[in-house]
Amino acid sequence: MAEMTLEKIVAAGLCSGCGACVFAATQGAVEMRLDGDGFLRPVALRALNETEQFSIRQFCPGIALQHPEQFDKGVSYHHVWGPVSRLAAGHAADADVRHKGSSGGALSGLLIHLLETGKIDFVLHTRASETQPLTNESVFSSTRKDVIAAAGSRYAPASPVAALRDALARPGRFAFVGKPCDVAAVRKIVQARPELAERIPYLLSFMCAGTPSMKGTHEILQRFKLNADEVVGFRYRGDGWPGLACAETVGGQRETMDYNTAWGTILNRHLQSRCKMCADGTGEFADVVGADAWHGKDGYPDFAEAEGRSLVLARTGTGSRLVSQAVDAGAIAIEPFPIENLNAIQPYQRRRKQEIRARALAAKIFKRTSPTYIRFKLEDCSAQLSRYKFIKVLVGTAVRIFNNRV
Ligand SMILES: Cc1cc2nc3c(=O)[nH]c(=O)nc-3n(C[C@H](O)[C@H](O)[C@H](O)COP(=O)(O)OP(=O)(O)OC[C@H]3O[C@@H](n4cnc5c(N)ncnc54)[C@H](O)[C@@H]3O)c2cc1C
Repeated sequence: MAEMTLEKIVAAGLCSGCGACVFAATQGAVEMRLDGDGFLRPVALRALNETEQFSIRQFCPGIALQHPEQFDKGVSYHHVWGPVSRLAAGHAADADVRHKGSSGGALSGLLIHLLETGKIDFVLHTRASETQPLTNESVFSSTRKDVIAAAGSRYAPASPVAALRDALARPGRFAFVGKPCDVAAVRKIVQARPELAERIPYLLSFMCAGTPSMKGTHEILQRFKLNADEVVGFRYRGDGWPGLACAETVGGQRETMDYNTAWGTILNRHLQSRCKMCADGTGEFADVVGADAWHGKDGYPDFAEAEGRSLVLARTGTGSRLVSQAVDAGAIAIEPFPIENLNAIQPYQRRRKQEIRARALAAKIFKRTSPTYIRFKLEDCSAQLSRYKFIKVLVGTAVRIFNNRV
């Protein structure tokens, strides 16, 4: 990929919108903007030099991801679920954090624990913009109240890595929270610049089925028969588990939609193309990953409203220690969760990783560039597909590429 440039990465559909290129280039050279398809994409404000293009290639999670030859002691690599140190189901011990969180508020519980024990000084993460509530913004949280205000999943574009330079300009240590691609970018940056490890000691992520375009959010508003400019508050879920998508207007009107309808019939139809080629939907480069620990029903996840429950997946020694310390301090409560049970509650994540090689082969036939994955055990994942299924995915992807839908 030596010849890749920022412009080529975007044109090839490899950009996930994380904002790592804003950090890689000189300050002010690149900024993230919403494009006509409703995704955040980098725009170079001047011609980038070769040093900047080199850093972009080095940090961009869209073009290539690589695991180390050796993981931390006590960490084993599961071909579907990635590096595993410890897997549990649980929730924030604080009832309010559990309720406000997207699933069981485990990520927010861990962040509050890190802040209140002085292990970090602030968190770099994402929340609804205060001035434009349909869009997301990166924020620095240094109190429990700040963390709770940013709890809940935002099913719309966000570029938290673009705020990394500003975070590093502040004094102190911080935790970074982001989608798997955001965290993979920060992991690459820290590997290339090890002096930053001390400043960013914790990387937290969540399982991610993909980033929906802003068009998804606008479609929800259309169903509500609301105009974007009258909305003063918008959440996708949380405030319960899974909680409701909810829009509030300046006039006090409140419209809601259940998770199954919002995610299952609208948002997931607007995913960016890079996400369909993602082998890292489960946050393989994070220290700790949160996800929905759905209760199962007939072999499928049950989205009936319940008390929040998160999966808590520690992937590194640092992550495992953090989980133990947070449990001992009473910040989160957990119970063991057998890894075999993940198949039933995260079927999309499993299927996508199994299908990546078939999708990549279809891309190759059409001379499309697809992401490079090193040490992801994709051969083992792909081997779990029947020959019939492999060909079906290959042909389906080829048809979508031919019709320009990937
Ligand atoms: C686009 C997207 C797709 C997802 N797909 C899946 C999936 O396939 N399976 C699954 O189990 N879970 C998925 N989730 C994650 C799930 O909704 C919960 O976030 C996860 O279970 C953690 O819950 P929690 O209660 O511990 O997190 P919380 O305590 O609510 O904390 C969530 C944290 O995530 C950050 N955050 C929220 N939205 C974004 C965003 N768009 N970009 C970067 N950071 C963000 C917040 O700042 C906050 O710190 C997805 C989330 C998103 C945003």
